Amino acid sequence: MIFKEKPNLKERIEKFTEIEHAFNKEFYEKLETRHNPHTLFIGCSDSRVEPETLFQAEAGEIFQMRNIANIVPREEEPDTHPSAVSAIEYAVQMLKVQNIIVCGHSKCGGCAALRKLKDYKKKYPYTGEWLSQSVSISNYIDEEYPDMKESDKIVMLEKLNAVQQLDNLMTYDFVRQKVKAKKINLQAYYYDIARGTISVYDYDSVFSNIIKEITSTRKDFIDNNEE
Ligand SMILES: [Zn+2]
Repeated sequence: MIFKEKPNLKERIEKFTEIEHAFNKEFYEKLETRHNPHTLFIGCSDSRVEPETLFQAEAGEIFQMRNIANIVPREEEPDTHPSAVSAIEYAVQMLKVQNIIVCGHSKCGGCAALRKLKDYKKKYPYTGEWLSQSVSISNYIDEEYPDMKESDKIVMLEKLNAVQQLDNLMTYDFVRQKVKAKKINLQAYYYDIARGTISVYDYDSVFSNIIKEITSTRKDFIDNNEE
């Protein structure tokens, strides 16, 4: 499937209506009247990351907020991104999800771009601007692990970037309150696509001290990146 060129979308939709929908008509009729998702999935836009497949879930179970490199804007930072934050607010406040999962993944193009952000910004200004929210993580890795292989640095960045977003989520009062009251389970995942494994990190994971350090340098790195 992944190597197939020019997929016939019309044919695929017809197949959905005639086979998938027709055979599960009752399910879809019920689904139309309500959804009650248990999980907010914050994932990369990457086409290889498929939450329904990962969780073996049906339509109606997973509420999604996806963007390049699964980033959550921080509440206190000046650039507001209402599209991203409103999806989180809606899931938490209105739908009352029980889990928020931030899912990073292997070979993430967004994380790779963070490694050469200034050049990348010239070519793709919107994506570069969005990604700059996570540039402090990439710079932290360079400073702390100067001798690490580049490919290992990228894997570390993919993982730390996912965990960083838990801290970013906790800048919102409506998330913080529910996590503290244990009404929401907050975790970061790292999905290794080739191996099919997922590493799970809690908010208070082994990385939490590192994240604190990265967050403290965050403003400097974002400002420096503006030149
Ligand atoms: Zn990605």
